[in-house]
Amino acid sequence: MGTPTTNTGPVITVSGLRMRYDSFEAVRGIDLEVGRGEVFAFLGPNGAGKTTTVEILEGYRRRTAGDVTVLGEDPAHAGPSWRARIGVVLQESRPERDLTVAECLRLYAGYYPSPRGITETMELVGLADQAEATATRLSGGQRRRLDVALSLIGDPELLFLDEPTTGFDPSARRAAWDMIAGLRSLGVTVFLTTHFMDEAEHLADRVMVIAEGRIVAAGPPGTLGGRQRAAAEISFTLPPGASVAALPGPVRDALVDSVSDHMLLRSARPLAVLGPLITWAEAAGHDLPDLEVRRPSLEDVYLALTEPGTDAPPLDAPPLEAA
Ligand code: ATP
Repeated sequence: MGTPTTNTGPVITVSGLRMRYDSFEAVRGIDLEVGRGEVFAFLGPNGAGKTTTVEILEGYRRRTAGDVTVLGEDPAHAGPSWRARIGVVLQESRPERDLTVAECLRLYAGYYPSPRGITETMELVGLADQAEATATRLSGGQRRRLDVALSLIGDPELLFLDEPTTGFDPSARRAAWDMIAGLRSLGVTVFLTTHFMDEAEHLADRVMVIAEGRIVAAGPPGTLGGRQRAAAEISFTLPPGASVAALPGPVRDALVDSVSDHMLLRSARPLAVLGPLITWAEAAGHDLPDLEVRRPSLEDVYLALTEPGTDAPPLDAPPLEAA
C-alpha cells in the first residue's frame, strides 16, 4: 500500500457538512469520522444525500458549508498526489475497448506513482483466470471485479465502493464480500455505499444511515438503533382445539396480534414468554411446528429509521393488552 502520511487518527473527518442545490438542501449538516482500516457503510434511501456526500469526499463536488478532511487534506483543494492515494469504484464503468483484463490494468497502473502488481491485483479480485480475456466480453459480475481491480491498481489507502454487488448472483456476492474483507486485512479503509442490509451487516465495522440529508443513526450493525435491546418477536400457530384464553398468562400478556390462529407476541425478555409457552404446549400434548423467535434485523431497523415521517423506530413498542 502507498505510504500513508500518518498511521493513526481518522482517515475521513466531516463536520457540519451542507450541500445546497439552488433552493434545495440535499445535505443538512452532517458529521462523520472514519478510522484507518475501517469498513464503513453509508446507507440511506434514494435521494437521501449519499452520492452528494461521497462526491464531496472524493473531491468531485464543491460543498456549500462545513469542514472536510480526507487523508489529511481538504478534497476541494487536494492535488494529484492526494488523488493517487484514493480508489473510486463507481456504479457503472466502461472498460477500454479491445484490451484484455491484464492490459487494462497495465494501462491504469501507468497513471500511478507506485502501483500494485498486475498479477497480485487480479488475484485479489478473483480475475487471475480471465487475465487474457477481452474486458468488454466479461460477464457483468466479472466486469464489476475489473472495476474494483482498476480502483485498486494504484494501491490506495482509501477505497470508495458504490453499490459493489448490484446485479451479482449470490455466489458472486459472497466472493465480492470475501474480496472486500481481504482489503480490510491489507489495511485499506473502505467507504461502502450500499442498499443491501445483509452486505452492510456482513462487512461493515460501522454503519451510518442518512435520510433527507441528515444522519439518523450510526454505530456497529449489531447495535444500530438499539437493535440489541429491541424486543424479540415470537410467533406460532395456535394448535387445533386450543384457545387464546387457555394460553399461560405471560404468553397472553405478550400478545400483540392474532390473525385467525396465527399468534404474534413481542417481548424484551423472550425466555419469560417461551418458558411458559413450551411448558404449556408439552403438558397439553401440542406441537408448535412453526414456532419462531426473531430479533429485528438490520433491515427492520433501517426501514423504521428511514420511513418518511417516522421519528423513532417502533422496535420496542409495548404489547397490546391480551385479548
Ligand atoms: P440514490 O440512492 O438514489 O443514489 P442518494 O442518496 O445518492 O440517492 P443524492 O444523489 O445525493 O442521493 O441526491 C440527494 C438529493 O439531491 C436528491 O433529492 C437529488 O434529487 C438532489 N440532487 C442531486 N444532485 C443534484 C444536482 N446536480 N442538482 C440538483 N439536485 C440534485
